[in-house]
Amino acid sequence: MFNVQDIRKDFPILSRKVNGKPLVYFDNAATSQTPKQVIDAIADYYSNYNANIHRGVHTLSQEATDLYEQSREKIRAHFNAQFTHEIIFTSGTTHGINLVANGFSALLKKDDEIIVSALEHHSNIVPWQMLCDCTGAILKVIPMNEEGELLMDEFDKLLSENTKLVFVNHISNALGTINPIEYIIEKAHAVGAAVLIDGAQSCPHIKPDVQKLDVDFYVASAHKMCGPTGVGMLYGKEEWLKKLPPYQGGGEMIAEVTFEKTTYADLPHKFEAGTPNICGGIVFGTAIDYMNQIGFDAIANYENELLQYATKKLLEIEGLKIYGTSKHKTSVISFNLDGIHPYDVGTILDKMGIAVRTGHHCAQPIMDFYKIPGTVRASFAFYNTKEEIDALVEGVKKAKMMLS
Ligand SMILES: *Cc1c(COP(=O)(O)O)cnc(C)c1O
Repeated sequence: MFNVQDIRKDFPILSRKVNGKPLVYFDNAATSQTPKQVIDAIADYYSNYNANIHRGVHTLSQEATDLYEQSREKIRAHFNAQFTHEIIFTSGTTHGINLVANGFSALLKKDDEIIVSALEHHSNIVPWQMLCDCTGAILKVIPMNEEGELLMDEFDKLLSENTKLVFVNHISNALGTINPIEYIIEKAHAVGAAVLIDGAQSCPHIKPDVQKLDVDFYVASAHKMCGPTGVGMLYGKEEWLKKLPPYQGGGEMIAEVTFEKTTYADLPHKFEAGTPNICGGIVFGTAIDYMNQIGFDAIANYENELLQYATKKLLEIEGLKIYGTSKHKTSVISFNLDGIHPYDVGTILDKMGIAVRTGHHCAQPIMDFYKIPGTVRASFAFYNTKEEIDALVEGVKKAKMMLS
């Protein structure tokens, strides 16, 4: 049974005070909080297993290697990849996207086309612009509507034999829109294009099945799903990972090195040069276990309840506008108060112990679409409560009174 008060006991930080008030943490789309199960696993690793992996004959190194590889297998099972070697450890979503973009620079030619969406995070725009600059490929953008939804008939029109890659986030971090990635993947495959899905914002809320989606690449960050920062994963279909050249040279990614020629290691090590974030990789598995034990269905149901409750309460405030009103969205609310800068609202909320994000949320093109400098973004996780939402609503009312 889902019991939020029990769950909250797993998160030590939720009982601290900020500016003399109990912390209300509504910046989950930027990073999630860490349960004690993960914190304990970090301490356990450094207390008992710390060693470099894949190279030592000594016991510690072998134990650390086993834990690291067991975690890779756990991640494979979670995402339902066919093979464990299709899971590459990265430092996070940004790293995964850059790894793929860099690989495609060897596969693209002038006038090939890459399609991205109007809802992308900067980390999913800039690498493609860089890729286009160095290959002569052309970047096309799927437009969006007022609700913050991508226009699928416009997407259909952008597709052609020239389309080589399509990059879309599963869920928008700025607005919370869940994008129709099943449709996008199917249509892109019909013209022979590969698809990379940015799952940074979806993995905290749902459990993607990469085989069922038939997606070519899928990336995520541990720190948005109860894990530590600095570690993430790239899933790639075996055939694609074999085709892509390595991203970085170094130790660990080679089979044989002479000054005449180097041969690369097999997957996944071909993409894992240098000493990785070993502890992070191991406890990424712990974080996934933790979330699965609560259950993604229970998480989605509860978060949807929070979303509906907060949407209703916030809209009762006169002059408050919510950006991103798709029926298909997760627990993110981006909003503004008429005539008041989002930063000022955020500052007053912080005084009351309420952590929200303000600004463009690394998605400047979305803000340009709405002709606003940014929004206040409250993003909820399964450990938040309706009482916390009441505190937010009171805080916003107070901010409105003080600032208008
Ligand atoms: C957070 C986020 C990223 C970047 O993730 P990092 O962990 O900072 O690499 C990319 N895309 C989306 C949709 C995000 O929410």
